[in-house]
Amino acid sequence: MALDIVVIGAGMGGLSAAAHLLSQGHRVRVFESTAAVGGKAGRRVIDGFRFDTGPTLLTMADVVRRAFRAVGGDLDRDVGLSPIHPETRYFFSSKDGRPARVDVVQDPDETARNIEAVFAGEGAAYKKFIEHAATIWRYASEPYLEVPFTGYSAFTLRVLKRGLGAVKLGKNLGTLEGLAREYFRSPQLRMFVERFATYVGGDPSLTSAAYANIAHVECTMGAMHPRGGMAAIARSLAARIEGKGATIRCGAKVQEVLVERERVWGVRVEGEPEPIRCDAVVVNVDPQTAAESFLARCAKELELSALRKRERSVSCYALLLGVEGPVSPLAHHTLYFPRDYSREFSDIYRRRVAPTDPTIYVNVPSLTEAGVAPEGCHSLYVLVNAPATGDEPERWSEGSPEVARVDEAIVHRLSELLPDVASRIRVRSRVTPLDIAALGSVGGAIYGEAPHGTTAPFRRPKQRVDALRGLYLVGGSAHPGGGVAMVTLGGEHASTLIREDASSLAR
Ligand SMILES: Cc1cc2nc3c(=O)[nH]c(=O)nc-3n(C[C@H](O)[C@H](O)[C@H](O)COP(=O)(O)OP(=O)(O)OC[C@H]3O[C@@H](n4cnc5c(N)ncnc54)[C@H](O)[C@@H]3O)c2cc1C
Repeated sequence: MALDIVVIGAGMGGLSAAAHLLSQGHRVRVFESTAAVGGKAGRRVIDGFRFDTGPTLLTMADVVRRAFRAVGGDLDRDVGLSPIHPETRYFFSSKDGRPARVDVVQDPDETARNIEAVFAGEGAAYKKFIEHAATIWRYASEPYLEVPFTGYSAFTLRVLKRGLGAVKLGKNLGTLEGLAREYFRSPQLRMFVERFATYVGGDPSLTSAAYANIAHVECTMGAMHPRGGMAAIARSLAARIEGKGATIRCGAKVQEVLVERERVWGVRVEGEPEPIRCDAVVVNVDPQTAAESFLARCAKELELSALRKRERSVSCYALLLGVEGPVSPLAHHTLYFPRDYSREFSDIYRRRVAPTDPTIYVNVPSLTEAGVAPEGCHSLYVLVNAPATGDEPERWSEGSPEVARVDEAIVHRLSELLPDVASRIRVRSRVTPLDIAALGSVGGAIYGEAPHGTTAPFRRPKQRVDALRGLYLVGGSAHPGGGVAMVTLGGEHASTLIREDASSLAR
């Protein structure tokens, strides 16, 4: 039964939903308020330097491959993926001023040897940790991700099917900070474990150890660089979707989702005189933003007052730097920790400021792909965590004290790895929490609600909005969560739910 379906937002979650819905034979229209598809997976080109402005690392590529296949595409041919070696180069601050370096690669034995060479006695601990992370993946993540989340009891039944080991694991999960202490003696390697909390926007002392599953995914399943950057994935998928007959309109902001007797029947789009009728709406926008804007009449059904009370996940601040000359010792992905990592989280969550001595993540795609930067130059994206204060424009505007301070802190930290970098910067641009907030993420929080507490994964808004027939949520603030692969999976799950509901949706 072919339905008319509107997708609001052309982030990766919305595009994935569109692709999978098209493969079921539905008629799909996508409305995107900005000028380009991709949402957070954006791109900026300045004087021949190309930068991603959001995600830089693709994991679980098979999930994205499925979205491409749904519309007759082929991720590996349409875009092209390069494996990265090392996957991530870690630097740890040391007292003598020379940062210690460890390369993490896909082979756990090789990584263990790299760790052992710097932190004697910790190589074996890494192997044990990564095995534990794989167990978490099997026992908790697979049951959480394999089907759309419809409730805690259905999830528990799926866990139980995996045996008592899974139940025991679930009962004993503490925080990522606790897990790091259990496995590693060195404070530096503990940071390596704690860092995975930031992939879901959290503080490791409050984030469940279940998120160690990300270490398994990234460190052993492989991380890829898409040719053209992450934005290329969204653009190519969008082209395939249009090739299958769907329309994607950019610069078209949805102003209202039309609802009558608790079922959606259309949308009103800026600049369109008439409402656009449809049988179902997939919302690829933060549910709180939706409930405060185009779904304001359904604020109660979307539980807006509860959403407003919840703590937001982190936002980000990135300096995009076009740099002349070599960038060794940086790798494609480099992470440089400060001495006191816990300070970073008290700055963000308690003082609500960007970290004073931040961890920097540096992405240099020009080390892997030709043409990303002019000859003899490199494109550097230097990212730090920041509080979700994108609703305070004065804080993040050009010339504000916080912007000047964070710029300086970033360049200072980068200079510890590349001593003369400040004199070689040819191009400079920024991504601030304001840019993320402009995409509809409350305060610029990348992952919606902060993942704090053991029940966090289950508190996310579900994809099927039970109180409103025909309304589905996808994207980083809903189930199953943020990250390119997760939201792409969310789009697939939304299409599954719509297939289940199809007979009740047709008008
Ligand atoms: C700095 C940064 C680094 C990251 N790094 C990684 C990484 O390395 N790997 C990884 O996997 N993930 C990473 N992520 C997370 C990942 O990018 C996101 O989880 C994912 O891209 C979000 O997709 P989404 O489907 O939630 O949609 P979004 O990207 O949030 O897009 C939503 C879209 O809806 C549009 N919209 C909003 N309101 C309306 C309206 N009224 N009408 C029409 N359209 C509307 C917006 O303009 C936007 O395009 C990163 C994110 C950031 C910000």
